[in-house]
Amino acid sequence: MNKDVSLHTIVPISILGGDVDAHFFGFNGFARDQEHFAVGIGRDQCDVPLVRVHSECITGDVFGSQRCDCGPQLQEALRTLKEVGGYLIYLRQEGRGIGLYSKFEAYLLQDSGLDTYEANLRLNHLADSRSFDPAVQILRALGVDQCRLLTNNPEKVAQLRAGGIDVIEQVPTGVFLTNHNRNYLQAKAVKSAHSIKL
Ligand SMILES: [Zn+2]
Repeated sequence: MNKDVSLHTIVPISILGGDVDAHFFGFNGFARDQEHFAVGIGRDQCDVPLVRVHSECITGDVFGSQRCDCGPQLQEALRTLKEVGGYLIYLRQEGRGIGLYSKFEAYLLQDSGLDTYEANLRLNHLADSRSFDPAVQILRALGVDQCRLLTNNPEKVAQLRAGGIDVIEQVPTGVFLTNHNRNYLQAKAVKSAHSIKL
């Protein structure tokens, strides 16, 4: 059972070069004082908000890394939210929860032929160490008990539902294939049952 978190701050921030007016929500009470946050966009447009749960990827989100599809997925989510209204929940669990330096090590192992999940296992981590419990805590603190979820990942839907959130629809995300991330996306499709058509 997750303990409740409470709202700490709500800050208006205009993002994407001024294209999107957002509110950033901070919270008190996460385990290990983690600083997960939510971004609310166009919330007055919708009865049932669209929600995107995004896990931190500094290389993809900030630097546009071609090793994964995190950057384009984040941009797509923010622009979709501008159209329909809802929340992006940004979870600070870099590298599928193993941290940035371990992700760097995993990339080196991938360059020697392992896929993204095998590399994590070789480093004595779980294939995927992420938890989406903080997303449930955030939605509760925001008073959201029903949502549409923007994702190709069935595990996210399952974890939110297990946490008591009524996910009434799974809305698929785009596929952002490049020459560099083909193996990564294939591994996600095959090993995590992500609904990705390559
Ligand atoms: Zn990434």
